Amino acid sequence: MGKHEVARRAVFLDRDGVINRVAVRNGTPHPPFHVEELELYEDVPDGCAQLKAANFLLVVITNQPDVGRGTQSREAVEAMHLKMQSALPLLDRIEICYHAGERYGQACGCRKPRPKRSYVIGDRWRDVDCARAAGCRAIFIQRGYKENLREAADFTVANFNDAVSAVLRDAGL
Ligand SMILES: [Mg+2]
Repeated sequence: MGKHEVARRAVFLDRDGVINRVAVRNGTPHPPFHVEELELYEDVPDGCAQLKAANFLLVVITNQPDVGRGTQSREAVEAMHLKMQSALPLLDRIEICYHAGERYGQACGCRKPRPKRSYVIGDRWRDVDCARAAGCRAIFIQRGYKENLREAADFTVANFNDAVSAVLRDAGL
């Protein structure tokens, strides 16, 4: 495997209970409410450094539905992430879903277990299945081969340029 292939691998890290401590009430974990309450587990900085040294991208993926439910402010969560990012400068990015969740009438495509913030662009069924297996969005470039997809793609496009447009549009960029 070439160096670039290794460099592309990522470890997706949950936030609450993985990176920072949680308050456990009645056996259920609750995220910190104020930035002052955000406390990292002691072994996280070194662990992140080890993963980074092994060329992994470090991506935090976290559901923060209390924001969508109106019981937490987005500003408070953003302040926590600034603090987390400065304590852990090795983090490549933090992906947050603020939606309340289906039960609260706020279905979305970014809430775990559907991170869907990464993409696979491909031209064969295998690429689409790969995207599915990885929880990524599948962009299928239809080149007209005589083969059927086994899983549905999120977007079917005619060429690479349209695939790129689909990614950027979907990502809101
Ligand atoms: Mg958690």
